Amino acid sequence: MADSKADCLFCSILSGDVPADIIFESETAIAFRDINPQAPTHVIIIPRQHIPTINDISADDQTIVGSLYTAASTIAVAEGVADDGYRVVMNCNADAGQSVFHIHLHLLGGRALGWPPG
Ligand code: AMP
Ligand code: ZN
Repeated sequence: MADSKADCLFCSILSGDVPADIIFESETAIAFRDINPQAPTHVIIIPRQHIPTINDISADDQTIVGSLYTAASTIAVAEGVADDGYRVVMNCNADAGQSVFHIHLHLLGGRALGWPPG
């Protein structure tokens, strides 16, 4: 499990070592298109701070984590999915299928999404 900053894929995207299609940047967060999109719009929103999982979020991180959601609403408008609707989801650990251990929101939209998720 890549749970340290040194071997973290999303920290490498933040540093520019790994290329990504970055579509949003703020003081606390960036967003880029998912490399394996599951919907017409599939954007990954990450904090600049390395936090491995939801379980590692501390009270001090609340402003940063909140900024992921304000980024999501801004991006939804820019992507043209705000009115029709979209889903924002953060997976945690194995049962949820988390594969990159730097917290991130998935913003999915552009089609009707099934519920409950698999
Ligand atoms: P999760 O399974 O919730 O940890 O989500 C990780 C997401 O990161 C998956 O949807 C992957 O397709 C996506 N992903 C993995 N590598 C890259 C990459 N280099 N650029 C963009 N998205 C990526
Ligand atoms: Zn990281």
